[in-house]
Amino acid sequence: MGTRFPRSYYKCSYNKVEKCMATKQVKRRDENPRVFEITYKGIHTCNNNVARTVGTTITIFAGKA
Ligand SMILES: [Zn+2]
Repeated sequence: MGTRFPRSYYKCSYNKVEKCMATKQVKRRDENPRVFEITYKGIHTCNNNVARTVGTTITIFAGKA
């Protein structure tokens, strides 16, 4: 068994401008592609985002299940 959907990593929008090292990982759930799990990694050093706790995972439902 493998993961059907690749994980995506996103850097903070202000990575270049303010050298913010925070990233987030987005992955779909294999059993329900409409569900995205977003895990925040790192701490925002920029002043443009609300601080997130490291390792926080939020779940987003895209569309109707
Ligand atoms: Zn940031």
